[in-house]
Amino acid sequence: MDKVEVSGIRRIFDLARGMTDAIDFSLGQPDFDVPVPVRKAMADAVESGHNKYTVTQGAPELRERLRRHLAEHAGFRDGAILVTAGSAGGLFQALAVLVEEGDEVIVPDPYFVLYGHLVNFFGAKPVILDTYPDFRVRPDTLESLITPRTKVIIFNNPVNPTGVAYTREEVAAISAVAKKHGVLVIADEIYSAFSYDFPHESVLRHDGNALLVGGFSKTYAATGWRLGFAAGPADIIDRMAMLQQFSFVCANAPGQLAAAAALDVDMSKHIADYRRKRDLVYEGLKDRFEIVRPQGAFYAFPKCPGGRDQDFVKKAVEQRVLVVPGSAASKRDTHFRICYAAPDRTLERGIEILNKLARA
Ligand code: PMP
Repeated sequence: MDKVEVSGIRRIFDLARGMTDAIDFSLGQPDFDVPVPVRKAMADAVESGHNKYTVTQGAPELRERLRRHLAEHAGFRDGAILVTAGSAGGLFQALAVLVEEGDEVIVPDPYFVLYGHLVNFFGAKPVILDTYPDFRVRPDTLESLITPRTKVIIFNNPVNPTGVAYTREEVAAISAVAKKHGVLVIADEIYSAFSYDFPHESVLRHDGNALLVGGFSKTYAATGWRLGFAAGPADIIDRMAMLQQFSFVCANAPGQLAAAAALDVDMSKHIADYRRKRDLVYEGLKDRFEIVRPQGAFYAFPKCPGGRDQDFVKKAVEQRVLVVPGSAASKRDTHFRICYAAPDRTLERGIEILNKLARA
């Protein structure tokens, strides 16, 4: 536990609690609600008595529906599926069964905060792959970091916090390096639905032995329901299930039925709306900030004008704009994260204030 620090994102979120009328770009969750049919499926599941434990692997109807979904959208062919307590639950269990003292795990930087902490927690060593300034993992850089101790690379696509999304060619090239060296890819594709410029490309289409982690939190705005899944090689999934039996036991039971219903719901209007928000934020900031145009997820990761992230973020928070210092998600402290899953009016006000700060 000594190696695990308080998340910088939470710190900002805690600050926001006492603040009225803050422009909150801090926490990564959609600003729309769970779609009505999914909420109804949840209520129906509760009312009809699906309130008991499910089998550890997950309700068979959800796993069956997920298998079809992943076959269509991620090229999933054979392998097993485990329903988890959020994709965070899947990541926790995956790293628990896969790594130990002496192992190395390649983590592209900037990263989702959980990765490094979990790798440390399980006694392995995070090996940071710096992706600045364009935030893209390149196959040759990846290859240069692989050693005989490399067990796993955690490959997030689209990326929290940068908004980078990888093309088919890039995913193919990265998968090829992993396969060549026998390194397992944990593909965190929780933002797969949020790809704005080209269709999302799953690692599974290029590496049948990769472990896919995904969930329902972002696509269906159900962050509080704690529902995710892992799909991949049966020997790994079986061990994760064994661990789940002695930890989470199973994922939220009525939620699993609602999740099966969710996979039939068309979210394209929301995705189109977020594409527009992406444009609004990028166009609104690009003249005053050094910023890579986001292609997916719902984050932008601009460079702080004139210095360290803590100083800029402090100034932003003083103006009631809550953003996350880049150092919460990176070894560098030069950028900040905006979550643009917010109403347009809030985005416009926030952009105006950030531009004013940049001018100053
Ligand atoms: N992976 C990434 C990249 C994320 O951004 C998040 C949530 N912020 C998660 C996993 C965890 O999501 P959940 O546990 O809600 O599925």
